[in-house]
Amino acid sequence: MNRRYLTADLVWDGASFVPGLVLAIDAAGRIDSLGDPPPGAPVEQRRGQALLPGFVDVHSHAFQIGLRGRGETFPLEHGSFWTWREAMYELVGSLTPESLARLSRRTFREMRRAGITTVGEFHYVHHADAGAADFALDAAVIDAARQAGIRLVLLECYYRTGGPGRPLEGGQRRFDGISVERFLAHCEAIAAGLDPARESIGLAPHSLRAVEPGELAELAQVARQRGWPLHIHLEEQRREIEEVVAAWGRSPVELALETLADGTGLNATGIHLTHTDADRLFDLFARGWTAGLCPLTEGNLGDGIPALAEVPGRRRLALGSDSNLRISMLENLRGLEYGQRLRSERRGLLGERPALTLLDAATAGGAASLGIAAGRLVAGAPADLVAIDLGHPALREIPAGQLPEALVFGAPDEVVLATAVGGRFAEHRAPATE
Ligand SMILES: [Zn+2]
Repeated sequence: MNRRYLTADLVWDGASFVPGLVLAIDAAGRIDSLGDPPPGAPVEQRRGQALLPGFVDVHSHAFQIGLRGRGETFPLEHGSFWTWREAMYELVGSLTPESLARLSRRTFREMRRAGITTVGEFHYVHHADAGAADFALDAAVIDAARQAGIRLVLLECYYRTGGPGRPLEGGQRRFDGISVERFLAHCEAIAAGLDPARESIGLAPHSLRAVEPGELAELAQVARQRGWPLHIHLEEQRREIEEVVAAWGRSPVELALETLADGTGLNATGIHLTHTDADRLFDLFARGWTAGLCPLTEGNLGDGIPALAEVPGRRRLALGSDSNLRISMLENLRGLEYGQRLRSERRGLLGERPALTLLDAATAGGAASLGIAAGRLVAGAPADLVAIDLGHPALREIPAGQLPEALVFGAPDEVVLATAVGGRFAEHRAPATE
């Protein structure tokens, strides 16, 4: 059997950094085993480095990188999510398959340089123009991911209304899912053309502003049957909650839980959950949902801070870069933790060692949310890796036992030297020499 052997000074085993643990990687780019290689087998050494599972970004709208530097000037004190959305719609109006591909490529490449090896791309700009029904922009996202060499979970978005009971307007018509039946047929066609080694699909009913509960139930049913993940925006904005309560008499989370009452076998993730009260958050976690959190974007948009610290018991967390205004998993992790500390004026709310909770959310938690085997360095998982520069001034002289904390709370993205997807490394920068 054609295997290669790889090690580094330190290798993350899910709980701690282990010196010199050797990964055996098979010809398909999967981890075959961990431990001692056969005597005499050549072992590739990444000296002065630590290996972790590559980070998993569960929520991206890649094209929104085109808004970077825009939408940041405001009528004094009157900027909001909704004024930002106007800027975003302006960008949507100008998108072509070519510009969407270019922006997506830029995002995915920047993600890899930040240690991200999988993206869950929540893709909603489908059509070449308003009124078309060609899904012409979908292939551009897949091509961009291939060119960047990032693992892709295409979260194909179903969008039907411009608010409960309201038709799509203007540029929103480019998001149109048309009908559940037509949309699902399109998803099946996409799925058939994906490379199973590094691409998969999930269903993403946009939100309960844009999708009716009956449609959500139908999509969830198919997600369950096909083993596809289901992602939905939930309760990012108070106005969204007000609109859904006015139309359906329940908050979006209550409506989602009621609509998907039998959640058996469904892998569901709620994105944001910013204004979800603690009891409903508890219900979501109890039903096996993951919370997909995007602290850098939520902070930029002034969304708010979710009530995670108020929910006892086991939380399921994952991270997303969302608008891609800033792509940094390390900053996202500390943003999540610091938001909770600032909200509660306490520390240590996400675990006795929050750095471990956060690293788990950035790796195994994200992979679970996207329904893929990545996120852990175990036999059978893809060899998706991030190589960390232990000689970087930010990490120098840090003992292995404190490395998770030093990485999460004190390191810049420049510590990411390389990432591997399916065992193939891309070298992003040279080790620090200072
Ligand atoms: Zn989003």
